[in-house]
Parts: sequence; C-alpha cells; structure tokens
Amino acid sequence: MNKNLSFIAILLLSSIPLLSTAQSGRWQQGVKYEMDVKVDAPKNQYQGTQVLEYTNNSPDTLSKVFFHLYYNAFQPNSMMDVRSRTIADPDRRVGDRISKLKPDEIGYLQINALSMNGKALAYEHVGTVLEVTLKDPILPHATVTFKSQFEGQVPLQVRRSGRDSQEGVRLSMSQWYPKMANYDEQGWHANPYIGREFYGIFGDFDVKITIDKNYILGGTGYLQNPNEVGHGYEEEGVKVKQPAGNELTWHFRAPQVHDFMWAADPKYTHDKIKMDNGVTVHHLYIKGPKTQDVWEQLKTYTPAALEYLSQHFGEYPYKQFSVIQGGDGGMEYPMSTLITGERPLGSLVGVMVHELVHSWFHGVLGNNESLYHWMDEGFTSYASALTMNAIFAEEPQDFPHGGAYQSYIRLATSGMEEPLSTHADHFHTNTAYSGAAYSKGSVFLEQLGYVIGAENRDRGMLRYWDTWQFKHPNVNDFIRVMEKESGLELDWYKEYWVNSTKSIDYGVKSVNQAASNTTKITLERVGLMPMPIDLVISYTDGKQETIYLPLVIQRGEKPLEKGMPERVLTQRWPWTHPTTEILLPRAKSSIKSVEIDPSGRLADINRENNRMVF
Ligand SMILES: [Zn+2]
Repeated sequence: MNKNLSFIAILLLSSIPLLSTAQSGRWQQGVKYEMDVKVDAPKNQYQGTQVLEYTNNSPDTLSKVFFHLYYNAFQPNSMMDVRSRTIADPDRRVGDRISKLKPDEIGYLQINALSMNGKALAYEHVGTVLEVTLKDPILPHATVTFKSQFEGQVPLQVRRSGRDSQEGVRLSMSQWYPKMANYDEQGWHANPYIGREFYGIFGDFDVKITIDKNYILGGTGYLQNPNEVGHGYEEEGVKVKQPAGNELTWHFRAPQVHDFMWAADPKYTHDKIKMDNGVTVHHLYIKGPKTQDVWEQLKTYTPAALEYLSQHFGEYPYKQFSVIQGGDGGMEYPMSTLITGERPLGSLVGVMVHELVHSWFHGVLGNNESLYHWMDEGFTSYASALTMNAIFAEEPQDFPHGGAYQSYIRLATSGMEEPLSTHADHFHTNTAYSGAAYSKGSVFLEQLGYVIGAENRDRGMLRYWDTWQFKHPNVNDFIRVMEKESGLELDWYKEYWVNSTKSIDYGVKSVNQAASNTTKITLERVGLMPMPIDLVISYTDGKQETIYLPLVIQRGEKPLEKGMPERVLTQRWPWTHPTTEILLPRAKSSIKSVEIDPSGRLADINRENNRMVF
C-alpha cells in the first residue's frame, strides 16, 4: 500500500462510524400549523392567518423554503389547465373546464405577508408554489416560526376540491391553505399541482374556521367546541348554546396528520356512529331520494371496513373517521374522505372502502405519492378488494384481484406502459398512470405473496405498518421489510417490476418420457422478467404434486403455502437460462396435466402456454 492509498484507507475507515450514524434511523421535518380562517360563504372567498412552527430535522442548512398554493391551479393557462388540455387522453372531469373559468369562478390562494421569526421575508408566487428565500438560513435541528396572512377564492369545482359540486355541495375544501412542501432525504418536493398526487409533512393542525351559522362542517380534525357548535357534534344530553351573531367558529385539532381537509354545506345530514373500539364515524351527506337509503345502509359498512382493516393492516390510530359527500368522485384525506354520494349501494360502499383504506397507506404510512403512487393507490386497491370481499360480497371469492390483473395485462400488452418508478406527474398518458399506480401496484402485492408465500406477505404488511407508520417509507424500505420477513432476497423483484416494463411469460415447452418412470419436463422463460415457478402436476388418479423452481437470486425458498399440493421436487432456476429441464420420477402415462401457477397470482401476460394436458 503506498502512502496515498493508506491515507485514503484511513479516511474511509474513519468515515465509517459517521456514515452509519447518518444512516441509522431516518429524519423527517416537523410542522405545527395554527390557522384562523374567516369564510365569506356567499362570495366563496376566505382570509386567514397561519402560524407555522417548522423544525428542520435534516442535517442540512436550508436557505429556501416552498409552500404549495394549490388553488392557483384553477386558473386559465395554469400548468394544470394546459396539461389537462394537451394530454393525449384527457381526464373528462377536467378537460378544458379550467380554461373557461371566469374571474369569479377561478381559484386562487395568495400570500399577503410572510415572516420568519418576526422578520419579513421576500417571496414569489410561481403558479401553485410560493418560493421563499430566507433572510437567515434554518440550521439543522433548528425550529423557526413562519407567520403569514393569506386570502383565497374557492374555485368552481373542477377537480377534487371546490364549490358547488355537481351534487350541490357548497364547499369541498381540500388543498386550500398554504402548505409547506416536504424536504426529505431526497431533497425538496415542491411539485407544481397539475392534478395528481400529494406529499406532506406529519404534524399537528389547530384550525379555526369562522363561517355562516347555517353551515355544517366536517373534515380532518377533532372538533374542540362541540357543545357550542351542535349540529349533532354535541355530547349526549348537552343543551347546545351557540354564541350570538350570524357566524360560528368551528375549532378543530388534528394530531399527527400531513394534511387538513374540511367541507361545509347548510343541508348536510350528520350521522354519528360510535364503535366499540372507541372510534367515532361521522357521515355527512345531503338527504335526497338518491342518498337517503344508501347512506342509511352505509352506517353498517364504514365501521365494518374499519374493523377489518385494523385487523389485517394495523390498528387505525385516530379516534375519528369522517365520510363526507363532496368533491368529484372519491378522494382521501387524513381521518376523512370526500366522495360523491348519489350512487347505488355497491358503488357507495366501494368508494368509501377505497378511500378509507387510504387512511392506512396515504394517511398513516404517508409515502411520497408522486414518486411512489403505486405504494399508495396500488396497495389501497389491493386492500380494498380484500375488504369488499370480506364485508360486502354475497359470495366471497378466493381471488378478488382478477380485475387488477386483467387491467395490468391490458396495459402491459398495449405498448403504452411506463415504469412504475415514473413520477406521477410525468406519465405520458392518464391511462399509463392509472394502469400502473392502481393495477400494477395492486398486482405487486398479490404477486409478492406468490413469491414469498401469502402468509409471509400478510405478516410483512403488519411489520411494514409497525416499522414505518408516520415515517414516509420509500420502495426500498418496503422491500427490506419483506426481505426480513421472508428471509429471501427481493431486489430483483423491485428492479424488474418497479423500475422496468419487462413482463412475465413462462411456458411449458415439452413433456416427454425420459426413461421408465421418469418424465422430462422442459419449461421456457419467454418474457424478460424472471420469476420463481410453481409447477403443479395433476395425475390420472386425481392426485396433485408441486414442483417448485425458485430463482437462484432469491437465495432461498418460500414455505409451502396453504392449499398447495405437496412438493415433490425443488430445483433452482438461474435467471440467465431461458429454459430449464426437470426430471420427474413419475411415468408420463400417469400424468394428466402440468400447469405453471394454477393459482393465477403470477402476472403472466400469456397463460395460453402455461398448461399442457394429455
Ligand atoms: Zn385511491
């Protein structure tokens, strides 16, 4: 070793403890919002003050910060408007509607004053993002206080939030306040709002909303003054004493959430359901011929879904969940959801379940949805299928994920597929985005059960919840949990399924008598993505056996799963080899058929060649 090399070696050695310190445990920024908002309901405008306590838990010094001002998206020629009009397959809910909004119909959110620790700051409105250059940088581990005054106009409902929805809900208030963009180990995420996903910082919200007394509100937080407000929120037996005047202040607090939504309408009916586990479910909807019966029936399904999810995916950590009629379809928010309400029962329960499931993935795990949309939408779709199967289906199916598989395979064979790792905003088409995020993301989990065993996957989901709740996990964090739970190496599964569009196609090439009582089976990998193979042999006497072909690179085997025929043979398959041969110690005449993955969990884009019958 020469002198220079040994110097480098010393540097490397001495840097090891530092590196491991930096990597152990992950930091995340901290926020505490206090907002006081006055709403002029007839004008659809509001003014507010915000005190934001911001803690920089990163090891970096910050010289800039960014706030989201989402309502500015609803203006002609905004990025969202142009994107919505120029994308090849426009979202029909948006289309060219933003371009046609009149001045009193547009949305805006504007900062009128901003300071940090009492010193006024310079800032620039750049579409849906406020760029702020700090006078004094925020040092690592420092806490600072931003104070701002803002005013906004609620846009005519186009997408998600807004006023006067198609079903007549006055105010659906999501993405309505200046929201600090997230800064994490991958840097700033000041994404302009063009219509897709969100990412926020976990923290506490204290929100006071003053509005016309006739309005009934619901949303993210716990109401702090229920006996003053009434409208069904009051404690049992309490006589409500509303203060004098035409307005009422609703005071909400929400701990450990990364966003705050509220909705308001004078016509809301408010149902309150207290569950045995201490959670209160609130339903707010406008009673009418299309809603009254189905929302009455919904009262049994929301608690049932919450209970099922708590059992299978981790205990729901809040004391409240609100299902509120509003918005333009279904959209998830912490502790709450906005859904359209004039639906047949199956559709109403379906959308409620989907948005409730989001509380686990979007709400509590809180991954960056722009980068890992599929870990939210896909996992949510997966768990929704299971929940609907358990609480709603008249005859529960063994395999409720068929729709997701079909939709993924349609995408994979369409020529339009883009990798799951594509940033949500940057997919070329809406079709590619939704097929990826919802269907391929959902297949990711069901197929993972095929790779590591369903029981390992199910235990892994609870471990993921325990390890990563409130910590913004990324794809590697998830894969590591599943590796630990299964004892298998899974990097290849992530690389192929998430970072590429390579697809799976395996086939049975030939089955021949090799010697007396020996049959030679040749399997072929036709597609580019390697996968372990369960090959099930059915015999003429009705018995079945499994030949298991794990990949060499998974460095281990999944346990025999419930319901799978006994394993007669295990033989590792190197991914480099397009074909593999198996010598089965059975006479060919005794074999009725051989089939790759009869469980249907392998997302094989061509199942025609999976089975050979004799
Ligand atoms: Zn969703």
